[in-house]
Amino acid sequence: VGMGSEYLEVRNLTVDFDGFKAVSGVDLTLVQGDLRFLIGPNGAGKTTLVDAITGLVPATGSVDKSGVELVGKPAHKIAKLGVGRTFQTASVFEELSVLQNLDIAAGAHRSAWSLLRTRRFVESKIEEALEVTGLAALRDQPAGVLAHGQKQWLEIGMLLVQDATVLLLDEPVAGMSHEEREETGQLLRRIGGERTVVVVEHDMDFMRQFATSVTVLHGGKILSEGTVAQVQADPRVQAVYLGT
Ligand code: ADP
Repeated sequence: VGMGSEYLEVRNLTVDFDGFKAVSGVDLTLVQGDLRFLIGPNGAGKTTLVDAITGLVPATGSVDKSGVELVGKPAHKIAKLGVGRTFQTASVFEELSVLQNLDIAAGAHRSAWSLLRTRRFVESKIEEALEVTGLAALRDQPAGVLAHGQKQWLEIGMLLVQDATVLLLDEPVAGMSHEEREETGQLLRRIGGERTVVVVEHDMDFMRQFATSVTVLHGGKILSEGTVAQVQADPRVQAVYLGT
């Protein structure tokens, strides 16, 4: 694998909750530039798969991030290795400003990097995150006054200042207006090129517009994978979604 080609290779990933396999033998290959949508009915195992990749639930199998094994590592180590996630409910510090939120996120790494990363370097990362998320004009506003969509963008910005190269986003456009969805899609495209973005999503219109590829989960297993058109044309996918 050459320079500039980061990847995430999931092999035979399994999460067993007392004999119930919420994720069962999942294989998934993601490369830099992927804007991969992860869809499937409720209970398909989407959140559990993201939890397993990010170390929030114990799993067996392998998650190879550009040569580094993630399975068995604690969540904070996985985050430091550049795999970041958001949750359905944005977890920002409401009392603190947008800038302070980004600063804290960047600081989460500072101990390890303090000798290598100067304050100026951290500041330039924060400026970049403010620009790319469109939050620059709101930098001094408390996060608590942000609109729902803006909080999600701030959370994405917090992953960017932590140098996340793989971003797993759990229903990022849930509850957003049409305009906010559009802006979120553009944001994902802006950050996506050099990174890998996985989006767990129920919004099929949003998926059609922005996905570069789609993985369909069902019963903890991969049911189908491909382009939006391929997945939509797959009779197995139609059967699951139409209940036939
Ligand atoms: P999705 O995100 O696709 O809706 P989930 O990953 O949340 O699906 O859940 C997949 C399955 O695993 C569901 O049947 C759910 O009830 C079960 N599950 C999720 N978390 C746990 C847990 N901590 N213990 C036992 N079962 C769980």
